[in-house]
Amino acid sequence: MARPPRAPRASPRTSAIVAAAGRGERFGAPKQFLVAGGARLVDHAVDAAGAACDEVVVVLPADQRWDGADVAAVVPGGPTRSASVRAGLAAVDPGADIVVVHDAARALATPELFELVIDAVRAGADAAVPAVPVADTIKRVTGDRVVETIDRAELVAVQTPQAFRAECLRAAHAAADEATDDAALVEAAGGAVVVVAGDPRNVKVTNVADLAVVEALLAAAREALP
Ligand code: C5P
Repeated sequence: MARPPRAPRASPRTSAIVAAAGRGERFGAPKQFLVAGGARLVDHAVDAAGAACDEVVVVLPADQRWDGADVAAVVPGGPTRSASVRAGLAAVDPGADIVVVHDAARALATPELFELVIDAVRAGADAAVPAVPVADTIKRVTGDRVVETIDRAELVAVQTPQAFRAECLRAAHAAADEATDDAALVEAAGGAVVVVAGDPRNVKVTNVADLAVVEALLAAAREALP
């Protein structure tokens, strides 16, 4: 879905990093380049990021050229998601106050969701992440043996986009540690991470069934347009 270019905002300046350098090892192909709703997943992600942020940096596999929308920078990623985000962070406008990290595999994140996490950081958090309640019962297992059932009342599932005070994100990544999301690095560094209401439609494509769900949700979103 093409969105109109956004008028420049007053400060603070916001930069988005779209992490699109995965090899899709679990999926079997780089899933961020699959097409759903008439555009690649990465194009949907860049589109929403560009509608909400002052600049977008795209992180791509080293052998891939960028042929999507105009962005501030395109950089080659690393062997892990955290390394790819660090590569993106090195290309972000040094004057950015807030950096938002988003997975290209989430095509359904809306500009409003970006704005929600950005606003929480503007309001004083070091980082803000969208979270949704956990519907399934979660158990800890060793092999096929259940060890423990975890009280899901205390659990949430966390999505991207995730917004950060730029200096917090840089400090959290300085040690080149690895985590499945950037907020975990900020938490480990003692930062204040808050949750905002996530969107259950903001599905991350991880397997083939997810792609069909994303197609259906994009079609429903198109139908809902005036
Ligand atoms: O593999 P996973 O689903 O956790 O990947 C989340 C996002 O991180 C995807 O958009 C993927 O392209 C990106 N990624 C990356 N560099 C890597 C691994 C994953 O940019 N080395």
